[in-house]
Amino acid sequence: MKLLGLCYSNEGREQAGSPSVIVIGGGIAGVAAARALHDASFQVVLLESRDRLGGRVHTDFSFGFPVDLGASWLHGVCKENPLAPLIGRLGLPLYRTSGDNSVLYDHDLESYALFDMDGNQVPQELVTKVGEAFENILKEACISSFLFLSLLFTLPNIIASLDCTDKVRLENNEDMSILRAFSIVFERRPDLRLEGLPHKVLQWYLCRMEGWFAADSETISLKCWDQEELLPGGHGLMVRGYLPVINTLAKGLDIHLNHRVTKIARRYNGVKVTVEDGSTFIADAAVVAVPLGVLKSKTITFEPELPDWKEKAIKDLGVGIENKIVLNFDHVFWPNVEFLGVVAETSYGCSYFLNLHKAIGHPVLVYMPAGKLARDIEKMSDEAAANFAFTQLKKILPDASAPIQYLVSRWGSDVNSLGSYSYDTVGKSHDLYEKLRIPIDNLFFAGEATSISYPGSVHGAFSTGLMAAEGCRMRVLERYGELDIFQPVMGEEVTVSVPLLISRM
Ligand SMILES: Cc1cc2nc3c(=O)[nH]c(=O)nc-3n(C[C@H](O)[C@H](O)[C@H](O)COP(=O)(O)OP(=O)(O)OC[C@H]3O[C@@H](n4cnc5c(N)ncnc54)[C@H](O)[C@@H]3O)c2cc1C
Repeated sequence: MKLLGLCYSNEGREQAGSPSVIVIGGGIAGVAAARALHDASFQVVLLESRDRLGGRVHTDFSFGFPVDLGASWLHGVCKENPLAPLIGRLGLPLYRTSGDNSVLYDHDLESYALFDMDGNQVPQELVTKVGEAFENILKEACISSFLFLSLLFTLPNIIASLDCTDKVRLENNEDMSILRAFSIVFERRPDLRLEGLPHKVLQWYLCRMEGWFAADSETISLKCWDQEELLPGGHGLMVRGYLPVINTLAKGLDIHLNHRVTKIARRYNGVKVTVEDGSTFIADAAVVAVPLGVLKSKTITFEPELPDWKEKAIKDLGVGIENKIVLNFDHVFWPNVEFLGVVAETSYGCSYFLNLHKAIGHPVLVYMPAGKLARDIEKMSDEAAANFAFTQLKKILPDASAPIQYLVSRWGSDVNSLGSYSYDTVGKSHDLYEKLRIPIDNLFFAGEATSISYPGSVHGAFSTGLMAAEGCRMRVLERYGELDIFQPVMGEEVTVSVPLLISRM
């Protein structure tokens, strides 16, 4: 048995000298928590199931240069971004792909080329026009669902003074999917219905929205789709990959790779964590920073069981799939734009290729399917998946030369992630993220799916790691009356307020 710090008794703790914490999961949330607690003089052990750190931050170097198979954008290039001080200090360059208020979230409509299936380029004016129509339909969708309350006729002035988000928030009736809301809008406003090429372009916008949520429009909640906070400053690609951020935070930590946790037992004065090979670790507290998909799979046993409200949050929050098929070519043969797209009759049939050449100077395109399409492609071999992506590309560029190398991610079936990131499903509350975060005794929860403000992001996951560390520090030290002797876990530059703990859920 590996003994870490406190062993279920104060005596153990006195011998060990400082409080101890086990961090489970070495993604950005776990590494941030471990770093913060280590810097606050805790004994910290980090247990990671994979043979690498980073989790859904995965920078691959097999092409001879960094390529991110997981996260690649900093969403919110601004000083308010909790990761900004670290990225700034490391001097990591960003390639900005959008400013604020882009209809496509992470791209401006400035540098792109959309094609139909026959390889004809869609006129830019049409793309812009359909983009405006897409925004109008979304606004109408908010109003439409609100209409179900018949309030449009009783409170017209209030409605007129509200923006779309407020209208959704006011809504008290049954939630519905984005897809269902769109069809209601089309019934009410036939003038917004599009046919032919404009319809296909609209499907492409929907496809990009599905990429943002990693989920199909029939599963995205109308009530909650716009509840996350978008930081200002637009979106920037991490040109050298995200890995340096992980490596910097992990420096000097006691990290155990290939340690898959299977059981977490908690008692009033400590936790005991069991790993797949049967070895156990003991500490004052633990930070559980594994993905939502892993919690859903119940491959980790909690003893005693987690309370019902926590289990329900795990069950009800959605986890979607977005993947990357990275194609490395021997030369650039495509237009010098930030992204290429293929429009189709349905969002499932649409394609999106990120042109990494613009950002990193290598001839690389990244095909990014999401939702059901991503799930279907995961059933293929890597070679077949790369071929599938290349076939999509050939539709728009028939003379395309075959890739010399490829990489294929499988975030949905990888047992270490079981999904790409969380999203709000129809009929469930956005508060679930907060419920997932709330500690249970000496177990603290971190990870993107515990971030109510920035779910599904690296900076959101990072913040929850810091929050869990702070909560953990407060709880462990308050028991021994030593709150003043350790440094707070947050650095000077990062201030994270830890919400009050409300025990009645
Ligand atoms: C394809 C893709 C693209 C994305 N793009 C962006 C983007 O551009 N910008 C952005 O901000 N976000 C993006 N995201 C989301 C972002 O990557 C995640 O929100 C974030 O990295 C999650 O960090 P985390 O620490 O919560 O979880 P993870 O990074 O998943 O870390 C959890 C860790 O727990 C480990 N683990 C699992 N089970 C066990 C176990 N039983 N025992 C021990 N360890 C275990 C895992 O191996 C993993 O290392 C993207 C994600 C994907 C998949």
